[in-house]
Amino acid sequence: MRSATFRFYAELNDFLPLPLRQRDIPYEFSGTPAVKDAVEAQGVPHTEVEVILVDGTSVGWDFRLQGGERVAVLPMFEAFDVSSLLRLRARPLRDPRFLLDVHLGRLARYLRLLGFDSRYGSHADDAELSALSAAESRVLLTRDRGLLKRGEVTHGYYVRETDPARQLEEVVERFDLWGAARPFTRCLVCNGPLEPADASQVAERVPPGVREEQRTFTRCRWCGRVYWPGSHHAAMTRRLEGLRRTWEGRQGGGGPWPASAG
Ligand SMILES: [Zn+2]
Repeated sequence: MRSATFRFYAELNDFLPLPLRQRDIPYEFSGTPAVKDAVEAQGVPHTEVEVILVDGTSVGWDFRLQGGERVAVLPMFEAFDVSSLLRLRARPLRDPRFLLDVHLGRLARYLRLLGFDSRYGSHADDAELSALSAAESRVLLTRDRGLLKRGEVTHGYYVRETDPARQLEEVVERFDLWGAARPFTRCLVCNGPLEPADASQVAERVPPGVREEQRTFTRCRWCGRVYWPGSHHAAMTRRLEGLRRTWEGRQGGGGPWPASAG
């Protein structure tokens, strides 16, 4: 048996058993395994890794371990500048679009509420999800590490939180989406874009009381569903208010958020 010493940094430790976090880990192997296999064998999906340093030099996924190396594994969103190092992953998607695993339906609705293109189907299997993520250049969001280990997945993220509202904050934070939100521009049900519609166009889809009260309507270009201020679920509106306050606290006011969510 040969061995190398691994150290995983920052949030990559989330994937390690508690006793192995934030410390040097001796990793034993036979033959000359690719460093990618050694990383994933320790439980860390390749989509979470940005840079690997072997004895201080950045290497690619196919680097073969010989024994005796010190291996530093750095996460994709590590704050320091890695531009001079060999990146293992494609650059972050500029205008992030998401594909959500089957158990993340609530998160999909929240992301749509903020205007982010978020595809979700409740019946897709792992092969379909990974193929679709690659074909449409969508960031695959999941709580299934096995899914992120599939080779086709180039942009994926393991969602840590279990509560959907906290998941939303987590994703907005990690993908730095604070300034990119366009609330109430996307259909919560089908992900279609919303477009303005006047009262005469939406008459048969809106209850009479609402028709008299409201002047501004939007309609989903794909499924025809009609929205108006107040038609979004109250709890979702409150969630959006919480996010807006957080955003304003960071930016010192302003931003893309409507003055009164509804
Ligand atoms: Zn729709």
